[in-house]
Amino acid sequence: MPELPEVQTTVKGLKKVIIGKTIKDVWSDFHIGAKHNNKQNIKNKKYLEQFKKIITGSTIKNIERKAKNILIKLSNDYTIIVHMKMTGNLMYGLYPNNKFVHLIFKLSDGKNLVLADMRKFASVEFFKTNELHLHKRIGQLGPEPLDPKFSAKNLFEIFHSKKLPIKSALMEQKFLSGIGNIYSDEILWQTGIHPVSVTNKIPQRKFGEIFKAMQKILKLSIKEGGDSKSDYLNAFGKKGNFQNFHKVYGRKGEKCLKTNCSGTIERIVIKGRSAHFCPKHQLIYK
Ligand SMILES: [Zn+2]
Repeated sequence: MPELPEVQTTVKGLKKVIIGKTIKDVWSDFHIGAKHNNKQNIKNKKYLEQFKKIITGSTIKNIERKAKNILIKLSNDYTIIVHMKMTGNLMYGLYPNNKFVHLIFKLSDGKNLVLADMRKFASVEFFKTNELHLHKRIGQLGPEPLDPKFSAKNLFEIFHSKKLPIKSALMEQKFLSGIGNIYSDEILWQTGIHPVSVTNKIPQRKFGEIFKAMQKILKLSIKEGGDSKSDYLNAFGKKGNFQNFHKVYGRKGEKCLKTNCSGTIERIVIKGRSAHFCPKHQLIYK
């Protein structure tokens, strides 16, 4: 699933090409075969009709990332909210070479902004821009880890009162924005913390280390254009590079890469999500 660095990379790419363009037309087949027809997103046919009416003819004023969401701000004071979920990729000018395209915005420059999504889990909605804080998902997001105002102290304050496995806590979007499976595994490996460690038992100095590792890893991945171990493609259909920097994610059964560590990477499931870790140098705080 695209996490902060991947969504950031997509937004950075699209910023260069879609701002100022008018949406001439919208096409989607997301609703065909969709299971939950009452949902407030374009998988619901009635909602899709409304979406088309509101969006068509408006001009793209800006595009931003908030956690793992893409916000496309329009001239008519509405915002399109895209969550790419498992396999979604928002791309510019690539249709019709991709059979997984399920949403097309036809733009005034003759190009298309498309959402390709093999598994069709992505979610697309419209919302009044000045009411985004009321949106059920957007309105409840925790701080952004790369926000200059966010500190190691803030991170400690969020987590030390909780009693959750650190792996799950790092991925909970209400606590912290934008981190998922890959980056939580990498952060915990880097800081020597076992993923089942309980948040309120982890000492404050370790949160200082988590904060530093998080900054370093997320920034490196953004620099490398995100992670394409799974299906991620950037705004122009190109893969990112961060999968070549994994220390632990997806390395089950392989030797730990930490200097002088003789551990072998293991994989467990915590609250339904996989966690990769080294049982030798990642300590359990509980
Ligand atoms: Zn190790």
